[in-house]
Amino acid sequence: MTDPAAAYEELKAQGLKLDLTRGKPSSEQLDLAAPMLDLPGAGHHVSPKGTDTRNYGGGQGLPELREIFAPLVQVPVEQLIASNNSSLELMHDTLVHALLSPLPGAPTRWVDAGRVAFLAPVPGYDRHYGVCERLGIELLPVPMTESGPDMDEVERLVAGDPSIKGIWCVPKYSNPDGVVYSDETVRRLASMETAAPDFRIMWDNAYAVHHLTSDEIEIADVLALAAEAGNPDRPFVFGSTSKITLAGSGVAFLGASQANVDWWLALTSKRTIGPDKVNHLRHALFLRDAAGVRAHMAAHRELIAPKFAMVQRLLSDAFSDTEGVTWTEPKGGYFVSLVVPDGLASEVVRLAKEAGIALTPAGATHPYGKDPQDAVIRLAPTLPPLDEIERAMAGVVTCVQLALARR
Ligand code: PLP
Repeated sequence: MTDPAAAYEELKAQGLKLDLTRGKPSSEQLDLAAPMLDLPGAGHHVSPKGTDTRNYGGGQGLPELREIFAPLVQVPVEQLIASNNSSLELMHDTLVHALLSPLPGAPTRWVDAGRVAFLAPVPGYDRHYGVCERLGIELLPVPMTESGPDMDEVERLVAGDPSIKGIWCVPKYSNPDGVVYSDETVRRLASMETAAPDFRIMWDNAYAVHHLTSDEIEIADVLALAAEAGNPDRPFVFGSTSKITLAGSGVAFLGASQANVDWWLALTSKRTIGPDKVNHLRHALFLRDAAGVRAHMAAHRELIAPKFAMVQRLLSDAFSDTEGVTWTEPKGGYFVSLVVPDGLASEVVRLAKEAGIALTPAGATHPYGKDPQDAVIRLAPTLPPLDEIERAMAGVVTCVQLALARR
């Protein structure tokens, strides 16, 4: 075996400039939606149901587009809102609204509730944490398991503390672990006893149709299960076409109970006279129906599955027999989690940076940027071309080997 220090010096000498940090689609993926930019086309602004999409109004979004996405995000079409380009924005605004105006079933608005805390399954998505940190909502980490958050811990915490007002969930192909919530996890989240009457699940189904294999996994329907359990207002479901059509010019969705939807639309009508319905029409014409979305996602899969396979190959070639080094093999989504022995993640990220390979900062997968074990590294292989992934991952392997050798 080559000396890890010598291999690292060779790596640095290559003068690389590679980036595995953010889960962005590649330009080839964005090109798949190129024909959409010619739609609806001059003179084609009236939707099939007769809406002049150029004008103000239509706060809930174009029905033709909501009909396409309702089955994909498991929300009845009447309870689905199609908005502008970012679901993160919808999550942010929902929490701002909850702080400033009482949610259906809430004893007070959250700014008057004293402490407000959210459960954060870890590892998780840094931008969820960012929203809470900005709004003064405290984050309480709970561990992830292979079937979703540790539900014994979640149930224990929410039953005993009325200041715990919500939980972040990425239920399918989670960021960063690729975890798919089991039906049992979804049922328990929907039906558990919560001390807060205004408890909400932030159900961020960002990767609902983003399969990496032919096993197109379906999850349980959180809205239906919550309604059945007598908690219809508990879930807020989010999704978007950011990683279906165009990351910067897609359409975001919010689905919830009728009471939540009415609450949300009334408050949102104070900040906008309606969403970008021309973009809704463009998306509806381009994607056509749920089957059209699935076919489009199969084309994405062809582009990105080889990149994920490359990450798997280089990691298993190097570490299949190394104790303490493990990684996820996701069936969908945008990320691979690499777990190194405790205390080494930030050192690996530092070594990689010095060698010109940008990795997501260690700790970003945990609230307040602090991974107490300093063990999780999030890898995002969709953006760079395949040859760059190969070079970057070979470099990551060298950095892990050096960090292990120096331990
Ligand atoms: N939610 C998750 C879990 C994500 O990973 C991302 C982007 O990486 C987003 C939301 C962002 O969604 P949007 O582009 O709709 O704002």
